[in-house]
Amino acid sequence: MKRLGIRRKTLVTLLGVAVPSLLAFSALIIASTALILQQNASRQVSSLAERSATSLAEMVGRSQATLTTMAASPEVGDYLTALTSGDHVRLADALQSLERTFLGWQKLDTTIQAIRLIDPAGNVLVKIKEGKLVPATGPARPPFALPAVHSVAGRDFFQAALRLPRHGVLISNLERGKTEEEEAFCPAMVRFATPLIGPDNVRVGVLVVNVWGEQTGQLINRLIAEAEGSAFLVERNPADPQRNGIYLFHRDETCEFGNQTGSRRTIFDDYPREITSAWLNHDRGIASDPRTKDILAHAYYSPYGLPDRGWVVVVNARRDFFLGPLTTIGRRTALWAVVVLILALAASLFFARSLTRPIQDVVEGIRRMEKNTAERIPEESQDEIGFLAGEINRMADAIQHNAEEQLRVEEHIRDTEKLASIGEMAAGLAHELNTPLGNIKALAILARKGIERGECDRQGLTGDLDDIVDQAGKCSDIITGLLSFARRSEARPTPQDPASLMGEAMALVRLRAEKRAVGLICNDPGLLPPLLVDGDQLRQIFVNILLNGIDAAPGGKVSVTLHQQEGGVRIDFRDNGSGIAAEHLGRIFDPFFTTKEVGQGTGLGLSVSYGMINAMGGSITVESQPGEGACFTVFLPATEEREA
Ligand code: ADP
Repeated sequence: MKRLGIRRKTLVTLLGVAVPSLLAFSALIIASTALILQQNASRQVSSLAERSATSLAEMVGRSQATLTTMAASPEVGDYLTALTSGDHVRLADALQSLERTFLGWQKLDTTIQAIRLIDPAGNVLVKIKEGKLVPATGPARPPFALPAVHSVAGRDFFQAALRLPRHGVLISNLERGKTEEEEAFCPAMVRFATPLIGPDNVRVGVLVVNVWGEQTGQLINRLIAEAEGSAFLVERNPADPQRNGIYLFHRDETCEFGNQTGSRRTIFDDYPREITSAWLNHDRGIASDPRTKDILAHAYYSPYGLPDRGWVVVVNARRDFFLGPLTTIGRRTALWAVVVLILALAASLFFARSLTRPIQDVVEGIRRMEKNTAERIPEESQDEIGFLAGEINRMADAIQHNAEEQLRVEEHIRDTEKLASIGEMAAGLAHELNTPLGNIKALAILARKGIERGECDRQGLTGDLDDIVDQAGKCSDIITGLLSFARRSEARPTPQDPASLMGEAMALVRLRAEKRAVGLICNDPGLLPPLLVDGDQLRQIFVNILLNGIDAAPGGKVSVTLHQQEGGVRIDFRDNGSGIAAEHLGRIFDPFFTTKEVGQGTGLGLSVSYGMINAMGGSITVESQPGEGACFTVFLPATEEREA
């Protein structure tokens, strides 16, 4: 992170905030939508199961009502009257009338598969089946000596129905019908039976109506579309292990009536124990299939009015179906997340740019200031960066002001030092000038006397005048040197020959050297490259170093060697004087550091020289052993080097 620029940091920060919050937000939306969908689906599925249980109750109620209406019909009433009258002809007529009535009822109500009138001995006296009359062709049987279709005397349901109280209705198991003579099972049905009770509470028979179960099957199958799941009707009947848990209706018909078809298939084969036991023990409920996560809702209804014998409607809603909208919501959320991400990225880029651009402007401004100290950073923005730019500009103003001030001070110091050197040299120079001037004066007096006496020949006079010119030239050279040394000037670098400047400097200090009996030696430098420097300044540097050497080595010697070295010229000033004490070595370039007596030194010579050499791109170093002299080494870059 430390290495990243502000722009990247801003980007990373903004994206670091945006991406996780978006992901968390999307996950939250999807999770809460899934929960809501699941809750809604659970409610819908369980209400489906409840409603279908109610519909089953209505269907059973209708069939029961049909049976009781039939039992109370005038035709059945006629039959009962005929029975008590004992009139056989009248009884036969009543039965014929019943046949017609039963046919009419069946036509009216297509859910009826068959209607039977059975005498108390179990003889089926009238039978209508699937819209047709099954004729009673058998021999006349007691108690009424009437021909019967067949006998059901041994059948449980008949015996049970016969024993029912008046208006009681017996409802059979829902099962596929099959008579002895039939090969295949007929569709599933339920038998509704009610006793026929004559005057004096005499049981005179049973009225039985078979109702097709098909209608129930359709109701169950239509509960939920195939794509959405499945629904089925299951029997709860713990007292009869053959029937407990069998499928009564299922979209896959091969499941149905496992007890009758021999497949023995039950809910226990298809669902985990905890689910099937809920179906068989609790009247309603909702569960999730642990294997598929499908929603399973069930509702119990007992046509028999018993808590442990009846039908359980189960609705199995597929997870894919009820969570189907989640895919669309997920896709849309992802799409929006991408859109928001792109917007966040664009916003991050924009913010990062607007944050870093002013900083870049400041950086570029500082770079411009490095090249040109008069340049300033534009203070455009009103924010902290604008404030920073203003502060940098103020700092640059202060630095420039200080630099100018320092230049002025340094210039002043140089002048002071120069004046001191001039003062020091003036005495010696006066002596030096005195000799040629004395010579000039003497020659001029001699010449004048010769002319006045007329003793002077032309040749002798010319010789004197030549001497005078020669001596005057010497004076002029000395004064020119002094003037050029004393001239106050700004540094004007021009190509300079270091050897000639050294010659001039030596000429300026020679007198002092002689006075102190110091031998000045300049080793033949050979051909040296020109230096791009201010000649006056370099001469002043040479003079400073030479004077120090002369002062330190009275009666000794100062030797100067100029070498050509890679990239420039190296000049060694070596003397065999007192040398420099170790504790002074680090201080001799400091301004005003001097070991000379008061009035003798200013302590500025080396510091000024150091500043000027640095400005020329060169360097000055010193090596010294106290008592063995000192060696100052100056390196100055050649013209091409400095230009480069
Ligand atoms: P000043 O000559 O006025 O003292 P400088 O700055 O020229 O000032 O020299 C500072 C000091 O460095 C001298 O006082 C002296 O102690 C020491 N110094 C300079 N050159 C030499 C040298 N060649 N030998 C010994 N000491 C020297």
